[in-house]
Amino acid sequence: MCYRNEVIYVYQSLYRKYRPKRFADVVGQDIVVRTLRNSIKNDKVSHAYMFVGPRGVGKTSIAKIFARAINCEKKDEGDVCGTCSSCNVSGEKECLDIIEIDAASNNGVDEIRELRDKVNLVPSELKYKIYIIDEVHMLTIQAFNALLKTLEEPPSHIIFILATTDPQKVPETIVSRCQCFNFNRISINNIVNRLLYICKKENISCDDDVLNQIALYSDGGMRDSLGMLDKLVVYGDGKITINDFFDLNGLVSDDEIKTFITNVIKNDVDSVISSIDTWNNNGINIINVTNQIISHLKALIVDYYSDKKISFENIDVLISLISKINEKMFDIKKSGNPKIYFEIVIIEFMSNNCSQNISREINLEKKVLVDEPNNMAVKNTSDNIDSVVSKDILSTNNNTNVLQKENEYDIDNSNIQEIIDIRINNTFAQADKAELISDKINFERLNEYTFDQNIGYLVCALLDGVIRVSSKNSVVISYEYDSVVNENIGRLTEFEKTLKDIANIDKKIAIITNKKWDEVKLEYIKNLKSGHKYEYIEEPIFVSNIVKKEKNKKNVNNDNAFADFGDIVEVE
Ligand SMILES: [Zn+2]
Repeated sequence: MCYRNEVIYVYQSLYRKYRPKRFADVVGQDIVVRTLRNSIKNDKVSHAYMFVGPRGVGKTSIAKIFARAINCEKKDEGDVCGTCSSCNVSGEKECLDIIEIDAASNNGVDEIRELRDKVNLVPSELKYKIYIIDEVHMLTIQAFNALLKTLEEPPSHIIFILATTDPQKVPETIVSRCQCFNFNRISINNIVNRLLYICKKENISCDDDVLNQIALYSDGGMRDSLGMLDKLVVYGDGKITINDFFDLNGLVSDDEIKTFITNVIKNDVDSVISSIDTWNNNGINIINVTNQIISHLKALIVDYYSDKKISFENIDVLISLISKINEKMFDIKKSGNPKIYFEIVIIEFMSNNCSQNISREINLEKKVLVDEPNNMAVKNTSDNIDSVVSKDILSTNNNTNVLQKENEYDIDNSNIQEIIDIRINNTFAQADKAELISDKINFERLNEYTFDQNIGYLVCALLDGVIRVSSKNSVVISYEYDSVVNENIGRLTEFEKTLKDIANIDKKIAIITNKKWDEVKLEYIKNLKSGHKYEYIEEPIFVSNIVKKEKNKKNVNNDNAFADFGDIVEVE
């Protein structure tokens, strides 16, 4: 009969249909099966067992087979013979002597009470009366106590098989009276082979990688794997494709995951945010995607260590990315808005990764910029390079004045308001949500330095403000009071340095009052609606005018330090 007709008329789930009836049919759990069969063969059956392991790996199925095999009259190598009268009785759904109790429903109070009352009655048809208590950790204290009494002095015709996914919650007094078996997750290969067998039997046609994906996704659970195949048979139209699998499970394709990871490594914030938005808009579960990313990263890392398919520069980034996501996985799951939380985690990672990349590149080149002794003008170098020029390398044995760039300029305060206005304009012109999120996260790092002897006062002053809008080059921070704003404007250079050094925010700062922020924000919204665009304006030359400070000129004498001058100095 064609399977599809069967689905319509007589539907029996694949899980039920292919549930093993004998030990010989069990997939995986080889050690457990062998030990149980031997105990039957050698007449060494205990009166209480505890099966421990994740869901869907065969605990209840094996408990049922074990219950039947114990009672089997022929004991075919410790397995169910399936033909003797006991096997016929125990194979019936309504067998009175094999009693299943699901502790998860009603906490099993009534059933355990009944169990205690009836435990002394001899079995009606079989040699042993067997109680299978599933999810035993869900029993109430009273039920555990009732069970314990029976376990302490069990009648000889009674055998208990307790199953649990959470053994920590089972009282030690119960566990210690049971023979315990650990059930492992079933291997991907075993699951795939079983699925292949079932597909063949049922004439189910499947794309090659679908079965592998099912096995991976079910995390070693046979029940979930078969349940998934069941759903796909109903969902798929004829042949089951990999896209059916992704659609049904709210997952994204491997190609999309690959592109996403590549964009994270490339620090392409726009593409990364856009991918997350698209997934979210398509109703895709971000937690599932996060798991997919972890699996994919793991596979890449394993590939690297097995046959070095990927380049060395990327491996550190991949490892730190997987650690970061793993570390935050719990929070992402528990978050009220996993999408936003996931975005923040990724952006924060990219922001750290970006700064590390820059220092890595520069370390690699080992090029250091030093001012020529007779020319104090600052070289037109990027601030990133400045940040990695160490003071040690700048020292010299030539008794020459060397300017340390870090503190060498200050903003001319007389034009400060004009500068602030330009910076507000420029921040709006290049406003970037991702930058704002990332800045806000990084800003929190300041909290660790509030008691620092040297910069605590600056950190506290900064923390009184709120970051309002960010671009890749600048940030607007607002404060409640005019007096605070005036005071902080005088510290703009120190603020910028503190933000750069501690919070990894290397940007120009504009400081305004909350009141002014409300005004410029309203204006911005109005302009947005009317289609007016903010144009980027170069800051006037006096902004970057250098006010040379005598205190920053240093005479350094160090015979051991390297000495050489020029625009670019190679360090050995
Ligand atoms: Zn039998």
